[in-house]
Parts: sequence; C-alpha cells; structure tokens
Amino acid sequence: MRLSTYEKDKKEIEDYRLMVNGLYGAYDIVAKEDCEKISAGKFSELPLALLKRLLLRGLLTPKSESEELADMKLLARLHKKVYGSSIIGLIILPTYDCNFRCPYCFEQHCLNRGQDWLSQTMSDEIIEAIFSALKNYKDRGYDVDHCIFYGSEPLLAKNLPVVRKIAEHCRELNLNMSAVTNGYDLEGYREFFKEFKFDMLQITVDGVGEVNDRRRIHKDGVGTYERILANVELALELGIKVFLRVNVGLENLHGMKDLIDDLKARGFLDKEKFSYYFKAATNDFKHEKAVLREKDLIDELIKIGFTTEEAIDRESQYSVTNRLILRLIKKSSRVFLLTLNQKMAIIRSFGIKFCRYPPLFSRVLSSALRRIYFEGQKNSLPIGTAMKYLYDCVANGIRRIHFLGDVAGYEHLDRLLAECNEEGLLTSIEISGKVNRK
Ligand code: SF4
Repeated sequence: MRLSTYEKDKKEIEDYRLMVNGLYGAYDIVAKEDCEKISAGKFSELPLALLKRLLLRGLLTPKSESEELADMKLLARLHKKVYGSSIIGLIILPTYDCNFRCPYCFEQHCLNRGQDWLSQTMSDEIIEAIFSALKNYKDRGYDVDHCIFYGSEPLLAKNLPVVRKIAEHCRELNLNMSAVTNGYDLEGYREFFKEFKFDMLQITVDGVGEVNDRRRIHKDGVGTYERILANVELALELGIKVFLRVNVGLENLHGMKDLIDDLKARGFLDKEKFSYYFKAATNDFKHEKAVLREKDLIDELIKIGFTTEEAIDRESQYSVTNRLILRLIKKSSRVFLLTLNQKMAIIRSFGIKFCRYPPLFSRVLSSALRRIYFEGQKNSLPIGTAMKYLYDCVANGIRRIHFLGDVAGYEHLDRLLAECNEEGLLTSIEISGKVNRK
C-alpha cells in the first residue's frame, strides 16, 4: 500500500489536514497526527476505519504508479467519450502576485509567502514548454481555442513583458484571449490591447466608492473604485467586452442598488459590451461571521427591483445552474414548454410534473425556461418577444410547443398558434392542468 501519486495537497485546518486526490476527485479531512503517519508511510498505525475509508476513496492505494497512470488514461478516455469534447482551453497564471489584499481572497496563502516569492513571473522556459505542448495537441487533432489570463492578478503593470510573450504565442495559434483581472493597472496595457485582441475582461468591484475600497483593498491603502471604473471605460472604448463581477458579502449586500445606479449614471448599462453579475463571496474566516447565502443575494436583488428571472440571471451560481438545466433540457428533450402561468411547469419528456415546487427549485427551473416563458395575463409578453421565443425553439430543433396556464388571458395566443402551424411545430394547450386542445 502507498500514498496515491495523485494526492496533491495537505492544507492545514486547525488540527486537521485536507487531503485531495486529483485523480478520483476525493477530498478528505484527516486528523493532523494521522496525516503525519500517512506521510511517514506508517499505514499500519492508522485507525482501521480511516484506513478503509482512504483506500476506498483512492487516497491510499494498493496500485503501483503505472497502474494508477493506466486508471488516469482510462478516466481521460471516458471523460472524452461522455463530454465528447476535443476542445482545449488554456488558463495561464503569469504570476501569483497581486496589488490588492481583498479579505476574501482565495489566493491569500500565496499572498502571505513574501514579496521575493511573489515577484516571480512565469519563465520563458515554461512559456515555451506550454506552447510546444499545445502545438503537439493541435497536431493530434485537438481544437485549442482560447487562453484566459488568470492570477492572483495577471495584468499587473510589471507583468506586461511576460503577458506580451504569452500573447504572442496565443496570436500565433489563433487563440481567443481574455483575462480575469482586478482592473487596477489596465491603463498601462492600453497600447498592448490595441496590438493584441482580447475578447473579454472580467473585472471586479464590490460597491460604490468606499464600500468597494473596504473590500477591494489596495496593498498601499489607496482607494481603488474610481481607477477601476476608469479602466472599465477604457476597456469598453477599446472594444473589449467587460463582465463586471460583484462579490457580495453581508457587509456590502445593501450597497447593490447604489452600485447599479452608479453604473447607470456612467452610461455603462447602455453599452452592448458591458454586463455585470453578482456572486455571494464571504470571508468566513475573519471579516464576516455569518455566511451570505446565494439565496439571500437573490432576495436582495428582487427587493431592489429585479424580477426573479433577472435576479437569477445576474447571480453567478444560479445562472450557471440554469444554463446546465437548459442544456440538459435541450439535449434530452425535443419538447419545449411555453408557460403562461408562473406557478406551473411540465416537462413531458421526463415525465415530471411540477405544480408546486419548493421556492428554490421553482426559481431555478422557471429561469431555465425563461427564454420560453410567458408571463401571466397581467403582464403579458409583447408579441415580438413571444415570436422570438418561437424562432429560438425552431432554431434549436424543437418540434413541439406546449402552452400551459390561463391561456384565456393571453391575447396573442392565436397568432402564436398560427405561426407554429406555419413552422410545422406540433402544439398542445393545457388550461388549469388539463390538456383540452390539440
Ligand atoms: S484582486 Fe483577486 S487575487 Fe488580488 S487580492 Fe483581490 S481577490 Fe485576491
């Protein structure tokens, strides 16, 4: 028996350590003293139950290194079969350094390692090795299509030379480039962005002015909000898409309305290349005792005037779930559903009927169906939007539309039915839960 080759991390959490197995995706918390025995190879001294558990989960293994490698190759083949993807995306961290010290930063363990260590940037040798491996993948038929610059902070002013070298390689391979950045040093990249086309920058602000500056803290203590927003404007001017991310904790939860007002006043909300989303991000360790739940964030967004669908769309975790559900529905089902009544939904192809689902699921599901969703009679959709939904269905290979709810109130129904007929779509209508017309 031995420790798996793919056991990668032993992060300390008080008297425990987190063991992570990269091959099987197993995460286990183990008492520090047991972990020391594992590191020393003294497996026979471990409690029997723990030994069994770690063996079962692959953190300890009776397999040789080459047997584990064979497992890894098998899993890679299965993964490719299941997901059917031969697309490779690249995420490059040119440095672990950052000019910010945000209290919730997940890279804090890096930022605490001292400036000498942080000052390192990716060496030429590593850059060459990455791109020669990528060329190799390309030659084997993989579609290498994008590169994301990620960090800590990838676009520090001092990183420009290394970022340029990487970008030159990306351009040679025709990769789309984007970056996740705190946006503070972007002015120094003005000429670079003219030379190298970036599709998108994800930039974070956490509120207006001081609210942001208390969370997006510059290491020299200077305010960051105005400079970040000036750089958002710069990116938009240069034709780069900006995804503004707002990390929300209990401390800034009630500042969201002010932020949206400020973004509006600056004219960002009218720009096609600008969008924003929220993410519940709480520093559980120091700054805020209670953890903000995704649901609390959605509730706050609704309170300040978003519809449920908009709130979900703007909330990162929910909207990802929505997209997954939508993809699942599209993939598994040829039946799409148009609901007229928010409280009911039926997915026929799954044989599932939801009349009263729990609030959380209701939100996720109703938003998953958002693009094909008609509001109730008091607030019915304009016919143009409704038609667009129909054409979306046609474009997605949907062959049957099911109308559900209090159809009597929807004035454009006949027109929609005629259009379905024209497009060769099968239709059915359900009023108060009973199918009454086909
Ligand atoms: S900007 Fe990002 S990497 Fe830098 S401290 Fe803040 S969260 Fe961490």
